[in-house]
Amino acid sequence: MGLLTGKKGVILGLVNDYSIAWGITEKLHAEGAELAFTFLPDKDPASPKMERRVRKLVEPLGAKHIIPCDVQKDEDLDKAFAAIHEGLGNIDFVVHSIAYAPIDDLKGDVHACSREGFKVSMDISVYSLLAVVHRAQKIMNDGGSIITLTYLGGEKVIPGYNIMGLCKSALESAVEYLAAELGQRKIRVNAISAGPIRTLSSSAVKGIDLMLAMYDTMSPMRQNVTAEDVGKSAVYLLSDLSTGVTGETLHVDSGYHVMGAPPLDAFPA
Ligand code: NAD
Repeated sequence: MGLLTGKKGVILGLVNDYSIAWGITEKLHAEGAELAFTFLPDKDPASPKMERRVRKLVEPLGAKHIIPCDVQKDEDLDKAFAAIHEGLGNIDFVVHSIAYAPIDDLKGDVHACSREGFKVSMDISVYSLLAVVHRAQKIMNDGGSIITLTYLGGEKVIPGYNIMGLCKSALESAVEYLAAELGQRKIRVNAISAGPIRTLSSSAVKGIDLMLAMYDTMSPMRQNVTAEDVGKSAVYLLSDLSTGVTGETLHVDSGYHVMGAPPLDAFPA
């Protein structure tokens, strides 16, 4: 019997086996969860590379519901949640592991961000959580659990994180409002603030190498976290181990967020 045996849910944001969503998938599957997946549809439907890649990963786990969904499109979201309901019935959890900012806006100063770049970044990285939760809660059992992924750059200035830092601040605020709105149904909404991990998305962040080096040398545990570490905390937040926890941002970052200055041994005299 796993911690999630008998629970059903959907994971949004798997693109390859470097994805944080993959670390979460492996742990949820190992704990007995029944999983559906959505993926960002390929621009050219005649060459569905993304779908093939995701199917190759999750079909061996027994996943039967692998559904296209561009979170910028309301009709995709409507269709995806209808298909999830048809396939799984009512669900118990949602994993939202999605973010995007146009590269020029991400790499530039925050004050230089274009209006369109700001809109797209906020739409995909923040509004999508609201849009997903709105549809998910209609097919979610009372007592369900929702998680999203954030980063310390939403709380403090992390050079290079730029516009995505503003998105993560808004996302963390959304988690608190959503937790307050859904709490009476005992549906919990939490965020995991992960330390830097090499993925397709993080490779677009200028300064990711420096971030990884900083966590390695400055965090209390003097190590970087892995997608597997995040997956274990996802099991906690999506299972009945955390029934008293909502509106929380749980840092899975080797403790880096508590440091106010580098440890003395990071700069030997
Ligand atoms: P990833 O590239 O593996 O995942 C990002 C996902 O977002 C992809 O599956 C992509 O297809 C999806 N996506 C983008 N636009 C979309 C759209 N319009 N519709 C549907 N899906 C869309 O990268 P990741 O690092 O695993 O990122 C997952 C989450 O974790 C993000 O929210 C990210 O900000 C967060 N996070 C990442 C790190 C890190 O260092 N990698 C640290 C903290 C938080």
